[in-house]
Amino acid sequence: MIRSSAEIRKAFLNYFASKQHQIVQSASLVPGNDATLLFTNAGMVPFKDVFLGAEKRSYTRATSSQRCVRAGGKHNDLENVGYTARHHTFFEMLGNFSFGDYFKQDAIKYAWQFLTEVLALPTEKLLVTVYETDQEAFDIWNKEVGVPAEKIIRIGDKHGAKQYDSDNFWSMGDTGPCGPCSEIFYDHGEHIWGGPPGSPEEDGDRFIEIWNLVFMQFNRHADGTMEPLPKPSVDTGMGLERISAIMQDVHSNYEIDIFQGLIGAAANLLACDDLENKSLRVIADHIRSCSFMIADGVMPSNEGRGYVLRRIIRRAIRHGHKLGAKDFFFHKLVAALIEQMGEAYPELVQQQAVVEKMLRIEEEQFGRTLDRGMALLEDIIANMTGDVINGDDVFKLYDTYGFPADLTADIARERQLRIDHNGFDVAMGLQRERAQQASQFGTDYNEQLKSEKLTQFKGYTNHEYSSTVVELFKE
Ligand code: ATP
Ligand code: MG
Ligand code: MG
Ligand code: MG
Repeated sequence: MIRSSAEIRKAFLNYFASKQHQIVQSASLVPGNDATLLFTNAGMVPFKDVFLGAEKRSYTRATSSQRCVRAGGKHNDLENVGYTARHHTFFEMLGNFSFGDYFKQDAIKYAWQFLTEVLALPTEKLLVTVYETDQEAFDIWNKEVGVPAEKIIRIGDKHGAKQYDSDNFWSMGDTGPCGPCSEIFYDHGEHIWGGPPGSPEEDGDRFIEIWNLVFMQFNRHADGTMEPLPKPSVDTGMGLERISAIMQDVHSNYEIDIFQGLIGAAANLLACDDLENKSLRVIADHIRSCSFMIADGVMPSNEGRGYVLRRIIRRAIRHGHKLGAKDFFFHKLVAALIEQMGEAYPELVQQQAVVEKMLRIEEEQFGRTLDRGMALLEDIIANMTGDVINGDDVFKLYDTYGFPADLTADIARERQLRIDHNGFDVAMGLQRERAQQASQFGTDYNEQLKSEKLTQFKGYTNHEYSSTVVELFKE
């Protein structure tokens, strides 16, 4: 029986290999072909140029289990972590792709066959969505696959939005390939709050989206006209953790094998008995994104990718602190992560020492100011009126104690408070101006240069810079 995440990953790739798909290794989290994208956030990212016709490959069908991060830019699920059962900053996306080869009919049939035959999911728990006007997809689901009409939900454009602005209409950018989607949802049962897609309660976690099929059907021009593509393509994505939850008879992704291993390890280190504790879940999520980012060559810094990384590390450390961490703990979880994921990702095993060291350095650095920053924040909260933490205070926490604004916002949210983002931005702008003026009088640039150098630290050719990282950390 297929049950573990590792078995599901394998079954997926083998199923599509049996349908003449080339199995392609997961690419780096740092996109090699797109400078505008912070992280690889979907399985199709490494194939972008193939879809655009700018790159030719020896195959027209591919399948992969792609590591993804959604913690910045267009897709940002950082604020969902700890609050929903289904979102991570790091996850694996299983995908099958057709580059001008098969289209809707096969894409739908493959997905259905994989779910209901290979994984043997009960059909009555599944429902699907199509783009409002995509009658072709509706008919394939209904007449060819046999899904009853009441289980096929048409999703239109967002209320008040322009045409083709829908969860069920995908586009690569303002121009270029685009087309309707069809999503497959699983009903986890009445006891969980939430409603079907398109209903007012759709954000609940009862009906969880497991698989998204994108039908690249048009080329959108700058004037908005849509020209049918001569050879339409397919891009699909299914979250490994979400399908694992279903196969392991649990509701939340955080209850699956990989996460239980990580949460157990964190609970041990932090002497916490409550395995459903939210902070443990956040820490287990964050060790995955942080470790994989570092293994892929991202270095903590004060801007760009490196700052996303640093912010996530600091959030994890703060959650450990909340659980009473007496010592540095975060870097110690890398071993547990390797136990769970090392076999599928040998590159992580290779980089273990670097990842641990870098995380430890970050823990030491932030550890020096965390207690004092928390004390100040408690003071601020105790003395405030209203529910918005003032921008100057948020800036002081950032500037003096290294609290990124989103970390302060994370704490505020736990207490039903908010932060004044605008006020923070203003304070930050003033600081920049002061720094610029000061620099005319010969300020020491070294610190800044150092951090810039680290960020630019070639994100693109994995091997080259991993050896440089090792150099950097030689004692
Ligand atoms: P949701 O609506 O639940 O946020 P999505 O529509 O944003 O999901 P897609 O962009 O369609 O997700 O990505 C394809 C698949 O990847 C999803 O159907 C889901 O299984 C998985 N997925 C997306 N975001 C996450 C995440 N943050 N953590 C884990 N799995 C995810
Ligand atoms: Mg989403
Ligand atoms: Mg969705
Ligand atoms: Mg989707």
